[in-house]
Amino acid sequence: MTLDTQRARGQAGGGLPPGMTPDLVEQLRTRLRGGLVRPGDADYEESCRVYNAMIQKHPALIARCADVADVIASVGFAREQKLTLAIRGGGHNGGGLGICEGGLVVDLSRMRGVRVDPVARTVRVSGGSVWGDVDHATHAFGLAVPSGIISTTGVGGLTLGGGLGHLSRRYGLSIDSLLAVDLVLADGRFVTASAEQHPDLFWAVRGGGGNFGVVTSFLFRAHPVGSVIGGPTLWPLERAAEVMQWYRDFISAAPEELGGFFAFMTVPPGPPFPEPLHLKKMCAVVWCYTGDPARADEVFAPVRALSPALHGVQPMPYPVLQSMFDALYPPGLQWYWRADFVKELPDAAIARHVEFAERLPTMHSTMHLYPIDGAVHRVAPGDTAFSFRDARWAEVIVGVDPSPGKAREISTWTKDYWNALHPYSAGGAYVNFMMDEGQERVQATYRDNYARLVEVKKRYDPDNLFHVNQNIRPTSAGAEELPH
Ligand SMILES: Cc1cc2nc3c(=O)[nH]c(=O)nc-3n(C[C@H](O)[C@H](O)[C@H](O)COP(=O)(O)OP(=O)(O)OC[C@H]3O[C@@H](n4cnc5c(N)ncnc54)[C@H](O)[C@@H]3O)c2cc1C
Repeated sequence: MTLDTQRARGQAGGGLPPGMTPDLVEQLRTRLRGGLVRPGDADYEESCRVYNAMIQKHPALIARCADVADVIASVGFAREQKLTLAIRGGGHNGGGLGICEGGLVVDLSRMRGVRVDPVARTVRVSGGSVWGDVDHATHAFGLAVPSGIISTTGVGGLTLGGGLGHLSRRYGLSIDSLLAVDLVLADGRFVTASAEQHPDLFWAVRGGGGNFGVVTSFLFRAHPVGSVIGGPTLWPLERAAEVMQWYRDFISAAPEELGGFFAFMTVPPGPPFPEPLHLKKMCAVVWCYTGDPARADEVFAPVRALSPALHGVQPMPYPVLQSMFDALYPPGLQWYWRADFVKELPDAAIARHVEFAERLPTMHSTMHLYPIDGAVHRVAPGDTAFSFRDARWAEVIVGVDPSPGKAREISTWTKDYWNALHPYSAGGAYVNFMMDEGQERVQATYRDNYARLVEVKKRYDPDNLFHVNQNIRPTSAGAEELPH
């Protein structure tokens, strides 16, 4: 029986995996400073929860790692006992890849910490930190690291998949500011990967997700970002086609100091939104301008000229913009995700977008187009594992609602919307916006980089211990699909 087959069998359910004795579990417990959680423990159910409440998985063991030694012990235990192993960073992943059914979770949520070096302009971030931790620490020095648009997202998953957000046009993806990572490998070794050390591994982790090891620490370059001029601009949905056409042409030509992602949304019924707009379906662009404030009026003049219903753009600290949507999207909602990379946005595609925007099924459901241009385009597709440098947008469609009763409605809308727009897409999708969509999608996403990723995987994780992710299989074809 192969290692893969053994792992694939009989690990579902809350009890001890086959072959596991209470003595073995006790041995692991005594090696962990952070603690071990098992079914039946008072905090077990809470520890199984991830951000997307649609995901309900029950691991056999949750290792709450406090330090690198705990991670080494947990990875070794999973390898020796042939357990499915999941790595939990911020727990935000749409497909629930931070947890597994049966098996062991390396839970990094206690490994949070940030150390800024304001002179070198670098930031050392522990593997279980969330972006709010980083924004808080760097802002004190007038610095920031490019990340996403919500402060509760994990640094681990977001960075290893690429990292798209407010600062991408100016400073590139999160991985473009990554200088080094410390990892625990499948064989238990602890290494640093950077341009100088294990450069093959450093290439692979920049976009290849959690396929290569547990990252216990990230070293980023930080950029001078303090106060920004940002916020949402809203237009009525009746003008969606006109606004989307304008946005398509405007954003690619705009100065790189201006970030702006397009969204369809339902206006939340509360401040800061004016009452007449409450619960109205609208289209929006959420802006982030980091250039010379004296030029802001000029930069935003074309936006104001389009007579928005609300121009909520104002100076604010960068962490305020980064956490602006946290309250709207608390943990515990039902999420259904679909995504694509997009190179062109023809009028015919825009017409289909508008059709589905008119049918937004719930207040939280949305579609975002994140620009991929500016600094992101200055790195070649083969320079890091993130292949789609030549795309112009990452499109993500998410059906979201607090009620499990709406699960079918939001997933149907999302799938229908994606099916209608997929013919206009560039092929693959941003790995961090995908759910469990099969091997073909993973390969379509990495394109020419896939073969090189397989080679690195063979070198560092030949038995595919790290497979609870958008999996790079350490073999060309025919390998077994492993359970998550
Ligand atoms: C509300 C919301 C907003 C988002 N906005 C953005 C955005 O603006 N930009 C963007 O790029 N993405 C965004 N995302 C997507 C996000 O990048 C992914 O969900 C990502 O996987 C989350 O990382 P995490 O560490 O929180 O997730 P987890 O669920 O903990 O982990 C996700 C994957 O990453 C791996 N992983 C996590 N940490 C480590 C580590 N330290 N070492 C090795 N592997 C690790 C896990 O094994 C797993 O496969 C958003 C997601 C949500 C839910």
